[in-house]
Amino acid sequence: MGKVLIIGAGGVGNVVVRKCAQNPETFTEICLASRTREKCDRIAAELDRPIDTAQVDADRKEEVVELIRSFGPDLVINVALPYQDLAIMDACLEAQVDYLDTASYEPPDEPSFTYDWQWPYDGHYKKAGIMALLGSGFDPGVTNVFCAYAQKHYFDEIHYVDILDANAGDHGYPFATNFNPEINIREISAKGRYWENGQWVETEPLELKETYDFPEIGPKDIYLLYHEEMESLVHHLKGLKRIRFWMTFSEKYLTHLNVLRNIGMTSIEPVEYEGKKIVPLQFLKAILPDPGTLGPRTKGKTNIGCVIEGIKDGQRKKIHIYNVCDHQECYREVKSQAVSYTTGVPAMIGAMLMLEGIWKQPGVFNMEQLDPDPFMERLNQHGLPWKVRELPVE
Ligand code: NDP
Repeated sequence: MGKVLIIGAGGVGNVVVRKCAQNPETFTEICLASRTREKCDRIAAELDRPIDTAQVDADRKEEVVELIRSFGPDLVINVALPYQDLAIMDACLEAQVDYLDTASYEPPDEPSFTYDWQWPYDGHYKKAGIMALLGSGFDPGVTNVFCAYAQKHYFDEIHYVDILDANAGDHGYPFATNFNPEINIREISAKGRYWENGQWVETEPLELKETYDFPEIGPKDIYLLYHEEMESLVHHLKGLKRIRFWMTFSEKYLTHLNVLRNIGMTSIEPVEYEGKKIVPLQFLKAILPDPGTLGPRTKGKTNIGCVIEGIKDGQRKKIHIYNVCDHQECYREVKSQAVSYTTGVPAMIGAMLMLEGIWKQPGVFNMEQLDPDPFMERLNQHGLPWKVRELPVE
């Protein structure tokens, strides 16, 4: 059905390319490109079908344009880092190819967590007749689709959304992050924020804590964070009164993080060391375990979903839509733990729906703006089955 260029051969890129390769009727030709070509070649050597690989510095638009022109994809899947989003979007615009990513753009020197940089491309993409699908991972991504599905099938009005991201996996290290440590630590060290009655309310980092009893995982401490899917959902859910995002962290993880933060190791301000400028957080990334190596060691499950409350036919109603994913099952299938798996599978499904023309339309879109049904159906088919449970309304 189409040719796809995947940029980024890290934890998520590894899953995306393996899942695309499993579906040759949709992804007829694949090219995996990244800053380090050997990583692409290593993954390619393990696949059952041949794919192209390439070296590209995706910070440089011209290099991406050149690669697009030589390979001729119908779609570019960006699973490099959020810093590359704009250069790749610009390249897609210039070469007139569709674009998909899993995380909103971030300037390297200022964590901003906003779509303000990418939404303005809408007019340009519409004019060029091409599509950009933003945030097609799990959260953002599947969580947005869960909300759209609830809106379509369960509610007349959605009032409250709590997005709950639980990882009960254990990798056996005292401290490691499950995906890119720089992105992960930046997210957690930032102030929390949620949206209530039309306004954003700010909290100190990890200030709000609750306990939630997750199906198949049990009770876990959850902490309120800001997360980018809320920014688009507040625009697209009718009648919304409050939306919050919560993530689980263990005591042990937070103790390590507090120490690292207190001694300045999570800072993104460069420091001078023996005549060289280094960014402490980037140095920390270099000494922490590579998230790509956690797969074989990680045991346990993730549970990510949305608790949604609102009105249906005049009655109050509350549901929990969620997916449970087992780290070891993911590793057996694609040599990756569940955090990369739960991001890579939705990226492949978003790409599939675009290439097959089911979600294809010109402009820049967040996931909840498109029909959730075909996406939900494919989650069940491609390794991320979901459940809905009704909850009592307090
Ligand atoms: P990794 O750090 O494991 O991989 C990133 C990859 O991008 C590496 O292969 C890296 O190359 C490559 N890369 C970095 N800079 C460039 C560049 N300038 N040009 C070309 N390639 C580059 O990250 P993950 O795989 O964990 O994450 C990938 C993306 O997925 C991130 O944007 C992350 O924020 C997002 N994500 C989204 C989630 C969601 O649910 N929506 C959840 C988890 C992640 P090299 O190996 O040479 O450094």
